[in-house]
Amino acid sequence: MALHQNLIGGAWAGGDAVPNINPSDTNEVVGEYARGTADDVKAAIAAAKAAFPAWSRSGILERHAVLKKAADEIMARKDELGALLSREEGKTLPEGTGEVIRAAQIFDFFAGETLRLTGETVPSARPGIGVEITREPLGVIGVITPWNFPIAIPAWKIAPALCYGNTVVFKPADLVPGSAWALVDILHRAGLPAGVLNLVMGKGSIVGQAMLESPDLAGITFTGSTGTGKRVALSSIEHNRKFQLEMGGKNPFVVLDDADLGVAVEAAANSGFFATGQRCTASSRIIVTEGIHDRFVAALTERLAKVTVGHAMEKDTHVGPVVDRNQLRQDTDYIEIGKQEGARLAFGGALLDRPTPGFYLQPALFTEATNQMRIAREEIFGPVAAVIRVKDYDEALATANDTPFGLSSGIATTSLKYATHFKRNSEAGMVMVNLPTAGVDFHVPFGGRKGSSFGPREQGRYANEFFTTVKTAYTLP
Ligand code: NAD
Repeated sequence: MALHQNLIGGAWAGGDAVPNINPSDTNEVVGEYARGTADDVKAAIAAAKAAFPAWSRSGILERHAVLKKAADEIMARKDELGALLSREEGKTLPEGTGEVIRAAQIFDFFAGETLRLTGETVPSARPGIGVEITREPLGVIGVITPWNFPIAIPAWKIAPALCYGNTVVFKPADLVPGSAWALVDILHRAGLPAGVLNLVMGKGSIVGQAMLESPDLAGITFTGSTGTGKRVALSSIEHNRKFQLEMGGKNPFVVLDDADLGVAVEAAANSGFFATGQRCTASSRIIVTEGIHDRFVAALTERLAKVTVGHAMEKDTHVGPVVDRNQLRQDTDYIEIGKQEGARLAFGGALLDRPTPGFYLQPALFTEATNQMRIAREEIFGPVAAVIRVKDYDEALATANDTPFGLSSGIATTSLKYATHFKRNSEAGMVMVNLPTAGVDFHVPFGGRKGSSFGPREQGRYANEFFTTVKTAYTLP
C-alpha cells in the first residue's frame, strides 16, 4: 500500500508509516500515512516562513485561482472523498459526502473573498494628513484540527488563512489523516507555491507540541478538546502570538410545552445522535418542561428505536460507529456513571454486534437526570443524551445556561415570545429555534462563548478578524 507522505516546502517527504483504520471494520486499512517528527515541524515552519513574503504580496487573482480550482476539484470528487471520509471517521456516507460538499463551498466562498478585500480611508484629526486602515496577513499560521470533521474544519481554517495571504503548517488529527492528505494534495496541485501550505501528520504530543513550542508561528488556530486548547493558549501567551480556540460543548436543547412534538423529536434525535453524537454542536442535555415531558420522552424513544446503527458505508445506516476504541470506552464509562448517579437509562446504550468488527454503540437516552450530574456537565462526545425535566420556561433557560460551555443551544417552541427571549438570553455563540443544535451554514460566523471558545469567530467574513492584523498608515503628501 502506498505511503502518504508529509508535504514540506513543496516536496512530499518520508516518515514512519502508520495504518489508518476503518472504525466500521477494523480489519480494513484505509491507507498508510506518515507520522512526522519535531524536526519535520521545524522544517515545515521554516519553509512556510520563507514562502510568506512572496505569498503575502501575491496578486489577488493568483490566490483566487488556487482557491477556486481547489473548490472545483473537491466538489467534482465529492463522492470519492466522502467515501474516504466515512471510511476513516465512521460517519455515514451521506454525512461524509455532505461534509465534503461543505469544504468545497468554503473554498469557493474564500476564493470570492480574495476579490472583496477592502480597507478604509478616513480624514485625519490633523488637516492635510491622510489615514489609511488596511488589513495584512499575520505570517505563518499553525492549523491544528480534531478528528470529528476531517475535511470541513481544515477547510474553514486553511481557506481563510491562504485567502488573506498567510502561509500554513497544518497538523490534522492522528485518527483521520486521509481526508487531510487529500485536501493538501488538491491544494498543492491547484498551484500553491512551495512552502505556502505544509502538512505534518502525526501525534499531538510530538507534532502538535513542536508547533506550540515554535517561536516562529504568528498564530495558531485550534479546534479540539478543552485540555489541549489550554495548552495552545498558554504556549501562545509565552510566544506572544495570536490564537483562536474552538473547544468542547454541552449544548442544551429546550423543549417547551407548546412545541410541535414532531419538530422537537426530530431536532432532538438529530442533535443528540446523528454523526454518532460526535459533533461539538451535538446536544446532550435535553431540557423539557413538565407538561410535554412524558409525551416527548415516549416519542423520542420511539424515534430512536427506528435508528439503524451500522457500517458507515451501508445504505440503510443512520448512525455509524464510534470513531475508535478509546472514544467507545469513554462513552460506555459515562453510561455507567449516569446509571450510578441515579439517572434512568430509558433507551439503548448497548454494544452492538455487526457483520464487520467495529465500534458499534446503540444511542443511549437517559431520563430523570439533573443538571448537576456528571453526564449533564461533562462533554461525553458520543451518542449519549440526558433528558432533564423542568417546571417552566424560566427554569429551562436557567438550566440551559448553567454550564461551563457555550457553543450552541436550541429551543423547540411555537411561541414567538419565548423564541425571541431565548435567542436574546441564551449564553451560547449560536442559537437555533425549532432546529437541531448542530448543522450550520458555511458563510456565517461559527463559534461559542465561555469554556467553548476563545478569540474571534471562524467562517464567513468574520474570519478576517483572526487571519489578519490591522495597520493604520498616516501620510502627509
Ligand atoms: P484533541 O484536543 O485530543 O485533539 C485536537 C488536535 O490537537 C489533534 O490534532 C491532536 O493531535 C492535537 N493535539 C493533541 N495534543 C496536543 C499537544 N500537546 N499539543 C498540540 N496539539 C495537540 O481533540 P479531539 O479528540 O481530536 O477532538 C474532539 C474535541 O474537539 C471535542 O472536545 C470536541 O468538542 C472538540 N471540537 C470542537 C469544535 C468546535 O468548533 N468548538 C469542533 C469539533 C470538535
